[in-house]
Amino acid sequence: MQRIVVLAGGIGGARFLRGLKKAVPDAEITVVGNTGDDIHLFGLKVCPDLDTVMYTLGGGIHEEQGWGRADETFAVKEELAAYGVGPDWFGLGDRDIATHIVRTQMIDAGYPLSAVTEALCTRWNPGVRLLPMTDDRVETHVVIDAEDGGRKAVHFQEYWVRLRAVPPARAVVPVGAEQAKPAPGVLDAIASADVVLFPPSNPVVSVGTILAVPGIREAIADAGVPVVGLSPIVGGAPVRGMADKVLAAVGVEATAAAVAGHYGSGLLDGWLVDTVDADAVPEVEAAGIRCRAVPLMMTDTDATARMAHEALSLAEEVRV
Ligand code: GDP
Ligand code: CA
Repeated sequence: MQRIVVLAGGIGGARFLRGLKKAVPDAEITVVGNTGDDIHLFGLKVCPDLDTVMYTLGGGIHEEQGWGRADETFAVKEELAAYGVGPDWFGLGDRDIATHIVRTQMIDAGYPLSAVTEALCTRWNPGVRLLPMTDDRVETHVVIDAEDGGRKAVHFQEYWVRLRAVPPARAVVPVGAEQAKPAPGVLDAIASADVVLFPPSNPVVSVGTILAVPGIREAIADAGVPVVGLSPIVGGAPVRGMADKVLAAVGVEATAAAVAGHYGSGLLDGWLVDTVDADAVPEVEAAGIRCRAVPLMMTDTDATARMAHEALSLAEEVRV
């Protein structure tokens, strides 16, 4: 049986995983999920990326939106607003809140996030093993210009959701990452993997945050198995969202080739770019990363499954 490890953010990671499951239904897939986007709201612990993966693979996702629950209502949000209690910029639906209540109760009772995630997944049956990157608290902060001419750091969700990534990001800091330990199972899954995939997730605030947990990057580099990524940048722009803003903060151009170079040949063996970026292939290969141009738009599960097949066949090609 093929063992695949995927480092996933939210929407890009979750949609890719749905295609991967369809492409190789018998594979044993372990997902290492980003928790740098986690936020505490109204006393609840919210894990947006883990939940997006869980809901997408478990059939509970709001399809068009890509995050949150299908058939969602917002009565709690309206009631909080009537009390004048914020923040009002983060969309917490009633159904979604139940997930956060269960999670927070278990955390308060002393369970680590990895155990809580496993418990939540017994309801959703995502068909993959979903592990948080760490049980420790890591919070991505974005440094922006302050009104007084200085700089200030805001929580990633405040930058992304409230500020819509409009202010230039000067730096992206995964606060707590240096002290964090990989969650139980993460390093073992990597060590026993046949292939490691980077889905078209945000290279800075999703995959980059996971790689910032000490031990994970090293385990991947040392595993001696093919590591293949798919570009989230198509035609010089993110397919969705504002990844270009956080790429600029780390000095990386928003191109498929530049993102491959950012991961680097020390980590990546193979890289898929979209067919519109076919002219980037020689540049990526010159950097020591095997590269192919194939359609990379996740328009439906079949198209995504074809992307997953391409990633796995590139992995076989680079296997030494
Ligand atoms: P987030 O945590 O919800 O932001 O999700 P991820 O980090 O997993 O993925 C976000 C990235 O997915 C964005 O940078 C998008 O460019 C990328 N993305 C979304 N849809 C597609 C698609 O159909 N094709 C490709 N290649 N990338 C996509
Ligand atoms: Ca995210």
